[in-house]
Formats: sequence, structure tokens, C-alpha cells
Amino acid sequence: MKPRPSFPAKLPPAGGRSAVTLNPQTVQVNLRPIAGQGVLRGLSSPAPGRSAHVTAVPVSSGLGLDSSAVRARMVVKLAEQGVQDPWVLQAMGQVERHRFVETALAGQAYEDTSLPIGLGQTISKPNVVARMIELLRQGVPGKLGRVLEIGTGCGYQAAVLSHVASEVYSIERLRGLHEKAKKNLLPFRLPNVHLMLGDGMLGFPKGAPYAGIISAAGGEEVPTAWLEQLAVGARLVAPTVTASGHQALVVIRKTATGFDRQVLEAVHFVPLKSGIA
Ligand code: SAH
Repeated sequence: MKPRPSFPAKLPPAGGRSAVTLNPQTVQVNLRPIAGQGVLRGLSSPAPGRSAHVTAVPVSSGLGLDSSAVRARMVVKLAEQGVQDPWVLQAMGQVERHRFVETALAGQAYEDTSLPIGLGQTISKPNVVARMIELLRQGVPGKLGRVLEIGTGCGYQAAVLSHVASEVYSIERLRGLHEKAKKNLLPFRLPNVHLMLGDGMLGFPKGAPYAGIISAAGGEEVPTAWLEQLAVGARLVAPTVTASGHQALVVIRKTATGFDRQVLEAVHFVPLKSGIA
């Protein structure tokens, strides 16, 4: 693997907070009363040696001191909606989405709805986040390698990605949101998340090749820089305007000889724009 490049904004490594290791069995115990048998069976048979890290930070929102039950209900719903990848379900169950939205919206954080994050941008619905990360990870049994996210926004998806990929490089073009994401992510102490302010349409060549590229903003077409920076065998998931003139999820897999492209369901993402603002 190439040495890790240096980044303009690297979050400090874990330390100070008491990070606890959560056995996936424990997660299942929490989920079972709501899930019933079987729905989340994937979580009971994780990959060998798999564990999940959660930070023991008290929740300061109106959700009270423990939001894990409401998150567990969201995970059950995601599974019922068809999300199967145990890594994705586990990550969605761990990341405290309410910490990424305004306090007044915290009560809606675990509903399947997109929410405003400022500067005219939105955080995607949990279902869309889970679906896209599942598509990104398709066919990968363990952790993904380096992932590039275009559109950091409030940092929520970057936090989810940090649990399913070895390194997450996330780029945002709006300074205000880049700063907000840095602030939001700080208490989580995720040393594998690297935030950059820049034009994501150019990708981030220093970190290439990527094991996955995921965009949270939709363009007229997939920028060639992303295709170039994708590793052979890796996938790119991006909302893109298709031949019908509507935005849909597009999945592109790089092969040794070219690219396989799949157009999936219709989606509504904020526009991919060039330059920094
Ligand atoms: N993943 C984010 C969703 C943010 S919405 C989250 O979890 O909150 C999409 C984001 O893409 C917006 O913040 C928007 O400013 C950003 N964006 C749009 N075009 C971009 C570009 N060329 N480079 C980087 N970010 C871009």
C-alpha cells in the first residue's frame, strides 16, 4: 500500500476519551427485542476478529443520555428495507446521527428523512446513506481500503464510512461545511477520517487509487478524475443525471479493460458544483 499522504485537515488520533470495544454480540442483544429473530442475523456472525469501536461520550441532545435504542430501531428498519451488509448495519447503529444536525432537528435524526445542514445543503436519508455504502462495498467481505467521499457536508456519512473502510478521505467545497464537519467529528476521534477543503470534481489524486469513491452531490456526468483515481476492481457510487434527464444512482466498476456501468433507482441529491466557496 502507498504511504499515507499528508492532509490539510487531519483529525487528531484517539486519546483522552475512553473508547470501548463493542462486541457485535452485544449489539445483537440490544437489537433482538425489536428485531425479532432473523432480521439481523448477519450481525451475529461477523467476520473473524471483527469488532466495532464506539466512544463513550455522553449525549448532550434532547434525546437523553442513551440514543442507542432509537438507533437500533432505525437499523431494524434499514434491514427491513433491504440493507443486508452487516458492516453497514453495524456502522449505522453506531454513528450518532443526531450529533450532526441542529439541536432543534435532533428529534428527527433517526427518521428516514433528509435534513438541512446549512448553506442550502442536506444530509441524506439514513436509507440512502446505507444503500450507497452497501453498493460501494458490494463483493467485499471485510473492510474496504481507502475511500474517497465527495461532499463532506456535516460529516455524518464520513463517520459511517470510517467504520467500514480503512481510510476515509472526504472533500467539501464549502468552507462553512468543511469547518462544521471538523467540529462535528472531533468528539468521535476517528483517526482514519481526513477532511479536505477543495473541489471534489478533481477527486483527490494524492490518495489514489481508491477502493471506493462515493459522491453525495449529483452532476451531469461522472468526472473523469474519479474514474482515473479508482482502483481496478473498485466501485464508484454517485447520483448522476442519466439519459432520461433525471438523477439516478449510478454504480461504476473499474475492470482491467474498462468500466461496467449500472443505472439504479432515481434519487434527489444536491448539485455537484465546481470550485471552492
Ligand atoms: N455526505 C454529506 C452530505 C452532504 S450534501 C453528509 O453526510 O452530510 C452534499 C455536499 O456536497 C454539500 O455539502 C455540497 O457543498 C458538496 N459538494 C457539491 N459539489 C462539490 C464538489 N465539487 N466538491 C466537494 N463537495 C461538493
